[in-house]
Amino acid sequence: AAAAMVKETIRVYARVKPLGRRQQAGSYSVDNEEALPSLEITVPRDLGDGFINNKRESYKFKFQKIFDQEAKQDVIFDSIAKPVAECVLAGYNGTIFAYGQTGSGKTFTITGGAERYSDRGIIPRTLSYIFDQLQKDSSKVYTTHVSYLEIYNECGYDLLDPRHEASRMEDLPKVTIMEDSDQNIHLKNLSLQQATNEEEALNLLFLGDTNRMIAETPMNQASSRSHCIFTIHISSKEPGSAVIRRSKLHLVDLAGSERVAKTGIGGHLLTEAKYINLSLHYLEQVIIALAEKNRSHIPYRNSMMTSVLRDSLGGNCMTTMIAMLAMDKRNIDESISTCRFAQRVALIKNEAVLNEEIDPRLMIVQLKKEIQDLKDELALVTGKQRTSELSQEELLQLDELIETFLKDNDPDSSLDVGADMRKIKYSFVHMKQIINHPMTSGEKLLSQDLSEEKNSNEELEKLKGLLQQRDNEINILVTMLKKEKKKAQDALSQLNAASVGSTALEQSPSMSLEESQSPSKCFSLKEAKVLTSSVPRLPFLPRATGGKISLGYQEAFEVFKRDHADSITIEDNKQLLKQRW
Ligand code: ADP
Ligand code: MG
Repeated sequence: AAAAMVKETIRVYARVKPLGRRQQAGSYSVDNEEALPSLEITVPRDLGDGFINNKRESYKFKFQKIFDQEAKQDVIFDSIAKPVAECVLAGYNGTIFAYGQTGSGKTFTITGGAERYSDRGIIPRTLSYIFDQLQKDSSKVYTTHVSYLEIYNECGYDLLDPRHEASRMEDLPKVTIMEDSDQNIHLKNLSLQQATNEEEALNLLFLGDTNRMIAETPMNQASSRSHCIFTIHISSKEPGSAVIRRSKLHLVDLAGSERVAKTGIGGHLLTEAKYINLSLHYLEQVIIALAEKNRSHIPYRNSMMTSVLRDSLGGNCMTTMIAMLAMDKRNIDESISTCRFAQRVALIKNEAVLNEEIDPRLMIVQLKKEIQDLKDELALVTGKQRTSELSQEELLQLDELIETFLKDNDPDSSLDVGADMRKIKYSFVHMKQIINHPMTSGEKLLSQDLSEEKNSNEELEKLKGLLQQRDNEINILVTMLKKEKKKAQDALSQLNAASVGSTALEQSPSMSLEESQSPSKCFSLKEAKVLTSSVPRLPFLPRATGGKISLGYQEAFEVFKRDHADSITIEDNKQLLKQRW
């Protein structure tokens, strides 16, 4: 799905926080009319000798759009967040992150102000918008979950812990990062809470913000030093389809971007001071690496935050940054740093792909249905109900067709079994058998084919081995039969000695062994087995007669002789022998 990929650089917006009453305004101007809107900041030139002259220095930064002091929350949502939310609803990943120094309005923009309903920020507005859209769209089945992660000092905490017992951040469940063999990041211990409507989702946001506030102590300065990531997870599926779309929207309130060695205007304005927050330093490293061409290694793994936001930075995501600016004189140098960072971020290209996957169980159900539909359709067209098996009659017909086809020397002859996959498949299987076992087919086919010849040579060796084995088996059987025969003869001579006087048993039906004594004569093992089991143990002859036969036995013997099929021949022979004797 090449069409399902969107290549785009990270969109970067700027928002200027309203000045406080006692704050001294810095000098800046906004131009939103240009093709690419710009923000110009003018500051006094630093001569480095403590002497401030009247010359001023100006910096110009480009943004997607600049929202000045009076911009309200609804406008921010409509221009910045709504387009991202729409992409997320369509199945792409999205990220919006607010970057700026402490007090510049990140939390106000992402979460909102508590005083007025109209001050609610991007998260509640996005939830409201998403659930509104989901309700309107009855063509798909949607499932929505949220998670809320706080990262402080390289440790992750689950803000959606419902226990409410947490009074310190350390009491919250610790979230750790796991990387699978495909280098995908998994967050262990971060709960995904299902939210079926806006109210449930807002309750979860409230729970998370409460935990966020409780966990903050003046000592850890969590609000300025931690990153908070609220994530909306959406999966959607059309009824009856096996394709599932999954997307994530990260709404990120980053730690304060302030740097050390801040000395105010006239100090180290132009030098790049270090971040107070180490993970923001690593974020900058990642962004510098991404902006460089031909850089293969991107140091995502240096911090938990860059690991979690890995896809949002140069990966599978539609990403938007909001540069938060405080334009009073004391903060203007930090704002310049923020703008510089924003310019680098604006160079990063992301490739958002449609996150579709197939549910194998649903796929099976769907395919089964498709098979049944096709069978029904076929039955309708042919007027016959198709079963998976061909009938015995059909098989014989096919065999005949194939035989005729093979025998036909006309190069134009063709084998037409009809438009029936079962018959076509059977024909191929049958032909394969004929080729692999040319002897059984009665004719040697395609013997000119060398590879086939090799195959049949192997086959011949196999058969020779089998034949040898059967000969051995037959030898054993024959020996056994000979023994039986000898026993029978012994018994007979004993019988004769007992003057019952009969040679008839010499022609007992099981004694036609002479014929099969030659081992080279082939008969199947099965037949041999039948033969062994049919060798009579001569039950009417006592094992050890000792020359005496009881009256009962004699009587039985007489009955046997009389009823025996060959009795007449035996009688004749007897007469003849008597005469000769
Ligand atoms: P950050 O999260 O960047 O540290 P906050 O969002 O907490 O900054 O903002 C600091 C203060 O400024 C808060 O009291 C907030 O209500 C206020 N504030 C920030 N931006 C605005 C704005 N656009 N309009 C009104 N008040 C704002
Ligand atoms: Mg904040």
